[in-house]
Amino acid sequence: MSDVRVRYAPSPTGYLHVGGLRTALYNYLFARQHGGTFVLRIEDTDQTRKVEGAVENLLEVLEWLGLEFDEGPSRGGEYGPYVQSERLEMYREHVRILAGTGHAYPCFCSSAELDAMRLDQQARGRVPMYDRRCRRMDPAAAKARIDAGEPHVWRMAVPERRVLMISDVIRGDVRFDTDTVDDQVLLKSDGFPTYHLANVVDDHFMKISHVIRGEEWLPSTPKHVLLYEFFGWTAPVFAHLPLLLNADRSKMSKRSGDVAVEEYRKKGILPQALINFVALLGWHPQDDREVFTVPELIHEFSLERVNKAGAIFDMAKLEWMNGEHLRMLSDEAALDYLLQFTNGSVSRDVLRQVWPMMKTRIRLPKDLFGDNLYFFADPVEYDPAGVAKHFANPEIMQVLDAYRDELGRVEPFDAATLEAHLRALAERHTLSAGKLIHPTRLALTGKTVSPGLFEMMEMLGRDTVVRRLAKALRR
Ligand code: GLU
Repeated sequence: MSDVRVRYAPSPTGYLHVGGLRTALYNYLFARQHGGTFVLRIEDTDQTRKVEGAVENLLEVLEWLGLEFDEGPSRGGEYGPYVQSERLEMYREHVRILAGTGHAYPCFCSSAELDAMRLDQQARGRVPMYDRRCRRMDPAAAKARIDAGEPHVWRMAVPERRVLMISDVIRGDVRFDTDTVDDQVLLKSDGFPTYHLANVVDDHFMKISHVIRGEEWLPSTPKHVLLYEFFGWTAPVFAHLPLLLNADRSKMSKRSGDVAVEEYRKKGILPQALINFVALLGWHPQDDREVFTVPELIHEFSLERVNKAGAIFDMAKLEWMNGEHLRMLSDEAALDYLLQFTNGSVSRDVLRQVWPMMKTRIRLPKDLFGDNLYFFADPVEYDPAGVAKHFANPEIMQVLDAYRDELGRVEPFDAATLEAHLRALAERHTLSAGKLIHPTRLALTGKTVSPGLFEMMEMLGRDTVVRRLAKALRR
């Protein structure tokens, strides 16, 4: 194993979403490419946001995706425990260390006081920040208040007037002025650490070499870098991934379509297609290639080729990619996969007959079992616009009736013979072939669009075709 150690550090506040999946994936690819270690760490220090079952769900989804971690909850490892709420004593001890070196101080301000401070700063057009009033308190007085049991938090003492240069693999050198960095709370009054403290302590003790995470954490990075400095530790390498955007370039959020991975799974997106798609949300391969297997991604991926600019999430592309990956499966594997979406209502044999016809056009199981249910059952209704257009002319309906009758005798009942027969029939009635093809399609499928009519007729078989034509003619 190399020294590369990366982590995916979700907070268990709900389902795994695309943004989280991308972070997990890039860490995974980076670890595998470098023969390193991929750690899963649960950041559950905000007890108010904790959601029951979120960790179990996460583990299940990661397993479905095949993003196997090397160390983490339920798996163990040398640097555990991997759940922050099981490491509380460690965080408290490190606040004591910072307090001892003057890098942390107790703050007794009530939430009412802090609210007033914020409102006042906003009224004066300033960015709200803690005004550091407790930092100036006499240490003996502060100790007396702590000893008296007064509720308090611990804040980090951010140095004044310093410029911090953070070099980020994706964003290059980013400058921060410490005067814009808040005296962050490190330990809350309930004795739980904040994300910032726990994150830094854990990344250090878990020997994390590279922190790969979403851009929303970039503004927190100066706090983290200062904490590393206070403790005398070396900071990891940082790589902040670009935002995910909607098609209109607005920030993607759970509200605006950042759908839980679970939902894609239910729709019939293959894990390998989702991984391929998510890999391209921000990363660009050297050529314009788009379809990759996971081993190919492990080989090709590089943080250097991740963009700074936001990545646009395009649902149509995900569906297209799913079709590509479905076609990469063996036919039998594709059938196995698709059959999961039929609730047992479709037999494997029937599906096997349909598959060659649909293989080139399928994107999702619903392409077969949703709109195209006619493969498996007679249509119960007909597209109304199609009816108005193709079933309206009595003369044509008469020809169609003759057609139904002749179909009982066409031999062999295969696509080529059926096509030649229909064209000859149309000619005899001095009609264009389309005049018969469209109403036939509508009668057989209830739809105005379908795969090639004659291939479909061959697949449905004589009895079904004749029965469906008769049914349509009876309307
Ligand atoms: N717990 C943070 C999250 O939920 C992790 C951020 C980080 O990777 O440092 O995104």
